[in-house]
Amino acid sequence: MRKRLVILGAGESGTGAAVLGCAQNWDVFVSDFGKIATKYQDELNLHNIAWEQEQHTAEKILNANCIVKSPGIPDKAPIVQAAKAKGIEIIDELELAYRYTNAKMIGITGTNGKTTTTLLTYHLLQQAGLNVGLAGNIGRSLARQVAQQSFDIYVVEISSFQLDYLDTFTCEIAILCNITPDHLDRYNYRLEDYADSKMRITRNQSAGQHFIYCADSDLTLEAMARNPFDGHAIPFSLTEKFTEGSQLFDCGAYAEGSIIHIYSKENYTLDMQEFTLRGQHNTYNSMAASIAASLMDVRKDSIRESFGNFQNAEHRLEFVQKVGGVDYINDSKATNVNSAWYALESMDRPVIWIAGGIDKGNNYADLKALVKGKVKMIICLGLDNIKLHQAFQSDVDLIINTSSAKEAVHVASRMAEGGDAVLLSPACASFDLFDSYEDRGRQFKEAVRNL
Ligand code: ADP
Repeated sequence: MRKRLVILGAGESGTGAAVLGCAQNWDVFVSDFGKIATKYQDELNLHNIAWEQEQHTAEKILNANCIVKSPGIPDKAPIVQAAKAKGIEIIDELELAYRYTNAKMIGITGTNGKTTTTLLTYHLLQQAGLNVGLAGNIGRSLARQVAQQSFDIYVVEISSFQLDYLDTFTCEIAILCNITPDHLDRYNYRLEDYADSKMRITRNQSAGQHFIYCADSDLTLEAMARNPFDGHAIPFSLTEKFTEGSQLFDCGAYAEGSIIHIYSKENYTLDMQEFTLRGQHNTYNSMAASIAASLMDVRKDSIRESFGNFQNAEHRLEFVQKVGGVDYINDSKATNVNSAWYALESMDRPVIWIAGGIDKGNNYADLKALVKGKVKMIICLGLDNIKLHQAFQSDVDLIINTSSAKEAVHVASRMAEGGDAVLLSPACASFDLFDSYEDRGRQFKEAVRNL
C-alpha cells in the first residue's frame, strides 16, 4: 500500500510538497483551514491530488505516515497537537524536498537580511554560470523545483519556523545573518529558544561543511556556545579586524570603511561605494554572500562584476524617486526595530521618518540616539501611535499622526526641504492599515509618484 502524505496548508510550499509527494508515489492529501488560492487549486487538480479547504477533517489527516506542515501554522493548532499526540512524523516542506535530491544546499537564516543575502548569493552563483536554483521562504517552493528541475545547488532562505521542522536537511554552507529579538510570541517570549532555533541551521553539518556567522552579534555568539556543531565556523565583522596569524584568519571577512576584505578560497577586497547596496546591514549581507560564493569556487572578478549589476528586492531601502530635491525611500520591509535602526543609520542627510503600525512589543530605546541626530520630524502611520510619541517626543520637534500612505507622503512633501530624505521604515508590522508590508510599500510609492 502507498504511504500517506498529508500536507497542512496549501500555499506555495504546501502545493510544491504535494507535487513532489505525488511524483514520488505517495498517497497525497492536502488540507487547508483557509481558502486555497485558485492557482494552487488548479495545480493540485492538474496532478489529481485530493484536497479540502476551510476545514481539517481529522480522519483524513491523522491516518498519515508523514505530515508536511506549512510554516505559517503554529504548533498550538489543534490538528498539529492531535498529530503530535499520535506520534505522526511532522516535517517542513524543505525536509521533504531534501530527501529526494542530491543537490548541495546553501541555507540562509537570521532575524534580518535573509532575503537580501539569499538573492545576492544566488545572483553571484548564477552569474558565474553555476546550475543553481533559488528556493524557500523567498516564495519559491524547493519541493516543486526538486520534482520538476535538476539544479546542482540551491540557495534556500530558511525562516526559524521552517528550521524547527528540519531533520536530515544539511547545509553545505549555512549562513546565519544575525539574531535580534523578533517573533518572540512564537517562542514563549524566550529569546534563548528563538536563538537556539536559529542554530538548527548547523544541524547535521560535518567538518568539511561551512557555517558563516556575524561575529558582532552577541546573541549569535552565545547561541553558538550553547549549541556545539561540527561545521567549519567562518566569521564576518564590521568591528573586528581579522589579521594574519589570528586563529580566524584562514577564512572570514571584515570591513574597513566602505572596503570589505574577504578571506576565502581567494583573498580580495570589494569597495561597497561602487555598488548600489547601501548601509552597514548590506555590508554584512555582502560579506556573507561573498564568502559563500568564493567557497563555491566563484572567482573574485566574477563576484565584483555581479555586485555591479545586482538589483535588490522591492521594499528594502528601495530608492523611489527624487522630487524637488528630496529623496523618497521605501523600506516597508523594516518590520522590527533592528531593521529600522540600520535604515536610519545608513541615511546621510536630514530625515523625515515615516514609522508605526502594529508594534510587536518594540523597545525604541536603541533608536533614540539616531533619531536625535538625524530625524527632523516623525510621521506616524498607524492606528495607535502612542508608543512612538512617548518614545521620541523629547528627541524631535514634531510628531504628526496620519492614517494612510497618501496622507503621510503629502505631509512629508509639505514639510521636506531640498536635500532631505523621506524614509518609510516603520519598525512595525503593517496589518492595522494595510494588507501586508508589500501593500504598504506600493501605496507609499504610488503616492510619491503622484506628487
Ligand atoms: P528578511 O528576509 O530576513 O526579513 P530582508 O533582506 O528582507 O530580510 O530585509 C528586511 C529588513 O531588514 C529591510 O528593512 C532591510 O533593509 C533590513 N536588513 C537587511 N539586512 C539586514 C541586516 N543584516 N541586519 C539588519 N537589518 C537588515
